[in-house]
Parts: sequence; C-alpha cells; structure tokens
Amino acid sequence: MQLYNSLTHKKEEFVPHTPGKVGMYTCGPTVYHFAHIGNLRTYIMEDILDRYLRYAGYDVTRVMNITDVGHLTGDTDTGEDKMLQGAKREHKTVLEIAKYYTDAFFEDCRKLRIRTPDHVQPATGCIEDFIRVISSLLEKGYAYQAGGNIYFDTSKLEKYYVFHGFREEDLAVGVRDGVEEDRNKRNQADFVLWFTKSKFDNQELKWNSPWGLGYPGWHIECSCISMKYLGEYLDIHCGGIDNAFPHHTNEIAQSEAYVGHPWCSYWFHVLHLNTASGKMSKSKGEFLTVSLLESKGYDPLEYRYFCLQSHYRKSLVFTYENLDNAAVAYRKLKAKIAALTPVAGEAYDEAGAAPLKAAFCAALDNDINTSLAITAVYDVLKAPVNATTKLALIEDFDRVLALDLTAPAAEEKKPAQTQSGALDAASIEAAIAARAEAKKAKNYAEADRIRAELAAQGVTLTDTPNGTTYTVG
Ligand SMILES: [Zn+2]
Repeated sequence: MQLYNSLTHKKEEFVPHTPGKVGMYTCGPTVYHFAHIGNLRTYIMEDILDRYLRYAGYDVTRVMNITDVGHLTGDTDTGEDKMLQGAKREHKTVLEIAKYYTDAFFEDCRKLRIRTPDHVQPATGCIEDFIRVISSLLEKGYAYQAGGNIYFDTSKLEKYYVFHGFREEDLAVGVRDGVEEDRNKRNQADFVLWFTKSKFDNQELKWNSPWGLGYPGWHIECSCISMKYLGEYLDIHCGGIDNAFPHHTNEIAQSEAYVGHPWCSYWFHVLHLNTASGKMSKSKGEFLTVSLLESKGYDPLEYRYFCLQSHYRKSLVFTYENLDNAAVAYRKLKAKIAALTPVAGEAYDEAGAAPLKAAFCAALDNDINTSLAITAVYDVLKAPVNATTKLALIEDFDRVLALDLTAPAAEEKKPAQTQSGALDAASIEAAIAARAEAKKAKNYAEADRIRAELAAQGVTLTDTPNGTTYTVG
C-alpha cells in the first residue's frame, strides 16, 4: 500500500514498525464548540484509512485525544483558552462544556459512520503522564523554566521538521499572532509545555506540579497520549493540515527529544474544506454542522459520499449545489443497488468477482483514492456477474466506505410531504426559517434555492416587513 507521507513529501510503501500491526494516532477535537463539517471531513478521511487498514488485514490500534484543557485560540501560545471561552459563552463550567461537546462530537461521528477509535483519552485524565515527560525533557536539557512557565527549547534540536507546503522561514516566524509575543521564550519557535503563570485569573482547571499550580500546553498532550497507548514507535499520525504547524511539528520535536530516536513514520494530513468565500470557520458565515445539514433535509451519509468523491490531499469546496449533486448521485446509486434481485440458488462468482475486488483495493492502495474506490462500486453494477455476486462485493466494499450501500434507501425527506403530496404547514415554516437563516448568512444562492424548491411545490413566498408569508396553490 502506498501512502503519501507529508514528512518526507512523497508517496511511500507503507511498512509498519511491527509486521501486521499498526499504531495510529488521531488528533481529537477541542471540545469547546460543535465540530463544523470541515473538521469532520478530516475524521471521515481518517476513518477510511483506519477501515481500509483493517480490511487489508492489519491489526490496528487507533488512539485519539480529547482536548479539554490548554488549547489557546492562537496555536502559538497566544490568545485565550478555548475551553474557557466556551464556558464563558454558555455560562457553564469547563467540565460541563467538555462533556456536552464531546458527546455532540461522537453523535456527529455516529451519524457519519466514523468508527470510534479504540482508545479515546481526554487530556485532563493524563496530567501525571505530562508531568513525567516534561520532567524528563527538563533533565535532558530540552526544556527550561522562564517566567514560571516551562518551555521547549527548539534550539536544542538537530532538525526542526518541515511538512509539505511549509517553508522553514515560515516556521521561524513563531509568534505570528504578533500582538502578545511571549518575552520568556528564548527562541521564537519555542513553545509552552506547562503554564503556571496563567494569563487568565479564572482558569478553572489547574493541577499541582513540581513547577507550581498550573496546566499543560496543548502540544504535549498528543505526544504523551500517543506514547501511553502506542509506545515509542508510532506508525501513522493523522490530522487536519492546519495542525501540521505548529502542533505536529512541536509534537515531533518533544517526542523525539524524549525517546531519543525517530518517533512517527507516516504523517497523514487531510486538506481543508473551503466555502466559496474561503476557509471554513466556526465564526465566519454559516456555522456548518451536521445538524444544520440534517435540518435542511440532507442525510449525513450524503455528506460522507460528497467527501469520498474527492481525494483527501485536495482541498474541497463546499457549496449546497455540490452537496446536492452528491446527494442525487448517492441516492441513485443506492436505488440501483436496491434493485439488484438475486435469483434463488445463484452462486457467488469467485472468478468474476476477483478483478472487481482487485480494482477496489488498487484504488485504496494508491494513497487512499476514494473517488476511484467509488468508481469501483459502479463498475461492480455494470459487470457481467450475477446479482448475488454484486451484492456480496458491494457489502464487502462497504466495510471500508461505510455508506450503508445495501441498506434500504432512507425515505425522501426533502421536502417533507403529506400523504396527498401537498407540503404540510410545518414543512413550509421550516423551509421559510431555513431560508431566513441563509439570507442572514448572506447565502443568497441557498435562499433562492429554497424559494424555487417551494415554488415547484406550488408554494409562493412573499417577503413583508414582518416576515415571510406564503400562499399555496
Ligand atoms: Zn494533536
């Protein structure tokens, strides 16, 4: 199997450290808010890698952290603690916020059929591990104490790694946020391992440490949690490309300083999901969540299908039009599969199936080419093999794709209709609300789409100063 390794900037044959076994680590969510669908694209593509490794016969152990402390709004130790920000926003405690958004994240994953990793570890559960590793880094001379905090000294490294798409000059800039440069740092690229001089008087979660009451930096948690479950040699580290620097760069620095040898062999980075106006974010434009897509009548698996149609190393543009196209294709595909009717007594055609299965594996063996893997499903439908063989193959492929391809098609939800075929009042009101939301987000294309969709059902909208009214017929 060939995987693109963003550390070496090339496709490489995948060879795990221990034959037959794979240790895989995924950066988990910072649980201060809902995940947007761009965050979830990363988890969907990582899920495919995880599932395909298992399908190919590897014994995979996958670990994910839950960031519930220490992640500041600036990734370079600047800004406010994201968890605290979430707690303030919702007038709750940090732990309440963490619990709520952890549950919400796994609910989204369940809807998108993303497997839960074998070990899910909140950072607040590993404080002793962080303290042990930080103490060792201090002993080895890779860390220093300044202004009460503990910093990693990047000047002690022989090599500061550079991922594909990043230049060494960019890395050296360090504090790019600019406004609050930390004067305790000896080198700009140094980063905090342990905070004691909190910038926030009301930081809720603090622990005793040899250096005083404080809390861990963000980067140290992933190194420690990975090593806790997967040992000193990690096969694959996954994450969104926006975590490559500084987060992953810093993870490598501190992990290799700690273990004294190369740590992780393959880095799997998923590119951004963009909106038509640029990078997706929680604060700009419409906050695109799985629940929002559902409220608009989409099945979350239509979004999964949308993601699988393109390669994980290409950035992808999300528009409702693109999602609609994917949804239509997905429904047609399911309808074709549902129409397969095996004849009683029909045998599985081993010889006919072999090249179809080989094509599916070849697609995924080539750096997880999911769009070709989906083409392989269409090729099964067209192939001169019987329906029993087709269904068995598609069920087999769906162990990786996880698109519920052989499950009965979900009822048509968009737009909801009453028995007589006319839209009921609740569905019209829901569509009007969705259109108002789209207009508020300046998403006029979506607003127009909803208006047109209602018009096609014989519902005419009239915008008045007091809101939108409608007439039917
Ligand atoms: Zn991480």
